[in-house]
Amino acid sequence: MTKILYSNINIFDIDKFESYETDLLIEDGVVSDIGRSINYDKNTEVIDLRNFYMLPGLVDSHGHMTHLGKNQYEVDLRDCKSEFEVVEKIKTFLDLNNNLSWVNGGGWNQEKFDIKLLPDNKYLSMNFPDIPVTLSRIDGHAIWCNKKALDMANIQENTPVPDGGEILKKDGLLTGILVDKAQQLIRNIIPSESIADVKKWILKAQEICLSKGLTEVHDAGISSIQFDAYKELINENKLKIRVYAMANQELFENNVSKFKSELFELKSVKLVADGALGSNGAALIEKYQDSDTYGILILDKNKLKNLFLKAFKENFQVCIHAIGDKANREVVLALREVLENSNDHQFDHRTRIEHAQIIKEEDLKDISDLNVIASVQPMHCISDMHMAEERLGSRVKDSYLWKTLINNNILLIGGSDFPVENSSPLMGIYAAVNRTKFNNSPYGGWQPKEILNLKEALEMYTKNTAYGSFKENFKGNIEIGKIADFTLIDRDISLLSNHDVLECKISGTIVNGEMVYKDF
Ligand SMILES: [Zn+2]
Repeated sequence: MTKILYSNINIFDIDKFESYETDLLIEDGVVSDIGRSINYDKNTEVIDLRNFYMLPGLVDSHGHMTHLGKNQYEVDLRDCKSEFEVVEKIKTFLDLNNNLSWVNGGGWNQEKFDIKLLPDNKYLSMNFPDIPVTLSRIDGHAIWCNKKALDMANIQENTPVPDGGEILKKDGLLTGILVDKAQQLIRNIIPSESIADVKKWILKAQEICLSKGLTEVHDAGISSIQFDAYKELINENKLKIRVYAMANQELFENNVSKFKSELFELKSVKLVADGALGSNGAALIEKYQDSDTYGILILDKNKLKNLFLKAFKENFQVCIHAIGDKANREVVLALREVLENSNDHQFDHRTRIEHAQIIKEEDLKDISDLNVIASVQPMHCISDMHMAEERLGSRVKDSYLWKTLINNNILLIGGSDFPVENSSPLMGIYAAVNRTKFNNSPYGGWQPKEILNLKEALEMYTKNTAYGSFKENFKGNIEIGKIADFTLIDRDISLLSNHDVLECKISGTIVNGEMVYKDF
């Protein structure tokens, strides 16, 4: 049995919203005693926590581990202002990452270049003659390739242009830019990810998440190879963060079985009902304000009903990406019909709407009555508030409803959707309690009636998310008998004003009793 005594801590009681000084004994990953005079034997490791403040372990309810890790191994070109800077960035990247057989990058935008012209492959090919280089434009609608990559894909001046795409040429010669559908010519030969790659990416993401105080991540839609990678990491004892994984639709439809180990659990499925707001893909009941479209409804009520039926039969939790008011409504209608026709009306399904960004007032009662959980990402609000105004016009009042959801007895759980947003849970909490950007604008908060208080925000990342993953009996607060997942911070968060939340420093991260990140 592993026994650890953490001494000199300030445990933060989330219900009372206050801290108390104490010691805490952990046996095999579970809290076995709390108090000032705990008896312990000589086999107990004692760790002095120097009066840090101990929060119940913070959880990200919606992130993408593989993507976060993978991004760290690609060149980020978002700040580049010239081809020269792009090449310099790649050189630095290659110095830091040896043994690469292919350079992938993204984020460039010629609108930000000093000379606002689409780039050419000449300078790129001159600097990197022997390694293929492929760089995606910021919007993903074009890819910029060097000669080595073009040659490997056998793309020449006379290559037929695929429908819906373009192969750009200058003076009859390839520029290296492939647009839209023509990108497939090169994407087909970019080496596909190996399980070793995926494991490397998950471990990288784990390192990042633990350093930000996350003890658990709900991985929002894993593929078959990602599932295999997790299983290998578990066997090799390398998984140190708790993961509650959602199978993506493909894995689920291939009849994946539920799976549980000490730190990893798969018992839910991630479905995607619509697109995203930024690209006018979120499905709306009325047309977009800034475009002649209703968005894209990927799963309508009937498709959703079939997926609900399969999931409930196999006792899977359903977590559905729904951003637009139309997508959110279809989810509610489908779920209601499925439950009304089932024998067990009290079935504890805990269906989650992931994002739940735009919801019509008249749908709130159904969401509440059906006990649907809203899995929201506060950072999206502060990043996208002005974009949402453009897309939605006056309907923006229906977006990023947090206090309204709580007032309608809908449980909120918090996440970041990393790597879309920063994985720091403190940033998410900041966004939830301020609804301002980090420069404090707009003053007083955007749609301030939806601002949460600090207790509500902390609950989103602790006890609520435990409920959202069927673990409320095991974690979410700090008491005897609960799993020892904790986040250590350097000050009493309850005494901070909402604007100062980011002044907290993460001092340590403890998962299953073990200190897996420390900064002291
Ligand atoms: Zn996501």
